[in-house]
Amino acid sequence: MAAARVLARGVRLGSYSIGRSRSLIFNTVQGRGIAACIDPSIGLTDEQKDFQKVAFDFAANEMAPHMAEWDLKEIFPVEAMRKAAQLGFGGIYVNPDVGGSGLSRLDTSIIFEALSTGCVSTTAYISIHNMCAWMIDTFGNNEQREKFCPDLCAMQKFASYCLTEPGSGSDAASLLTSATLQGDHYILNGSKAFISGGGDTDVYVVMCRTGGKGPKGISCLVVEKGTPGLSFGKKEKKVGWNSQPTRAVIFEDCAVPVINRLGAEGEGFSIAMKGLNGGRINIASCSLGAAHASVLLARDHMCVRKQFGETLSNSQFLQFKLAEMATKLVASRLLVRQAAVALQEGRPEAVSLCSMAKLFVTDECFSICNQALQIHGGYGYLKDYAVQQYVRDIRVHQILEGTNEVMRMIIARSLLTES
Ligand SMILES: Cc1cc2nc3c(=O)[nH]c(=O)nc-3n(C[C@H](O)[C@H](O)[C@H](O)COP(=O)(O)OP(=O)(O)OC[C@H]3O[C@@H](n4cnc5c(N)ncnc54)[C@H](O)[C@@H]3O)c2cc1C
Repeated sequence: MAAARVLARGVRLGSYSIGRSRSLIFNTVQGRGIAACIDPSIGLTDEQKDFQKVAFDFAANEMAPHMAEWDLKEIFPVEAMRKAAQLGFGGIYVNPDVGGSGLSRLDTSIIFEALSTGCVSTTAYISIHNMCAWMIDTFGNNEQREKFCPDLCAMQKFASYCLTEPGSGSDAASLLTSATLQGDHYILNGSKAFISGGGDTDVYVVMCRTGGKGPKGISCLVVEKGTPGLSFGKKEKKVGWNSQPTRAVIFEDCAVPVINRLGAEGEGFSIAMKGLNGGRINIASCSLGAAHASVLLARDHMCVRKQFGETLSNSQFLQFKLAEMATKLVASRLLVRQAAVALQEGRPEAVSLCSMAKLFVTDECFSICNQALQIHGGYGYLKDYAVQQYVRDIRVHQILEGTNEVMRMIIARSLLTES
């Protein structure tokens, strides 16, 4: 419950305690915690509760006060992320021998859910960075692990995941960026689209074609910023996720040492998909944090806003709405945590469960945040209020790391082909 109280303070006393919303926000701060039924610490071990509290504290103190400004001014908060890395959040599921925290996928989900209450966009970038660090840790040899992972885990260097291209999004295996072997280098030509962190990050985990058509012709290379022939497109203007830049990443005769290849030639697509299984749990966890915060904001608004002579909390319609939001939040959390455990244990159903979690949770949590905005009425549409930022920031979770239509394809394939 301590963690919950921290969250309650952080969400309301963050950068949104300004202007005309100030009194409303302060009126709702008076020691109100969260109901036990939606407490995210239920069922966790003491150790998990401890680092969950650390993450909630960090979200409340280091992120929530800035989330509006980071969004408005499109600031990539490097120093705040380095502080998060000091708490072990730069390589949460990376092995400790190269600077990681060595925690499980469930632990990771708990941390990302808590952090995202303070800023979804920043947490989502941290989650992509973690995914890249894990890919290098897992599929790299010792030299590669030792070269890249310590700086990534400390967030002295930042990473980007480069799969999508202008002509290949959902059909990722049709990617065209070519890597031609010349002596001890690959020469890369092509471009990647929508790359999170692109231009501001130091290490690019790039899926490229070294062989024939299809997934088996794809390899995975680590490309370092500063490599001649590597350049970036303009910074994209986005609906949300504004605390992290998104740019095209362009390769023009970009020579990358063969020793930077992760795994064998032809293994790149499999490495990319394995990264994304965890990525999908992470991004779903970021949606959970936004939904959790939004349920609290909606409840508190209902308790103070009066219409027709009484508070909104007296409307049974809105009570039912809030009850449904809370129920969907808890159901979503259970699914994410089940998928995280399946992935950790390498169970056969893990890929489908990760897809189910991503599909169900990002859809339901978007709906929860959107309903919370609706409960705020016109105020919810104002940038003085945090709820609109949660809505804008998690909308993209239904699109990236495999669209929710692609998640349906993966789940259906498993249902129809596995006996
Ligand atoms: C802010 C942001 C950040 C991103 N960050 C990264 C990143 O860091 N790295 C990276 O590699 N990529 C990144 N992406 C790219 C993202 O993964 C892609 O946008 C996504 O995979 C969808 O690809 P697309 O945009 O080309 O859509 P398309 O593949 O063109 O799909 C368009 C629509 O059609 C649907 N669709 C396509 N095919 C089918 C089908 N057969 N049946 C039913 N529906 C179908 C899709 O689900 C979607 O709704 C990011 C995107 C955004 C917006």
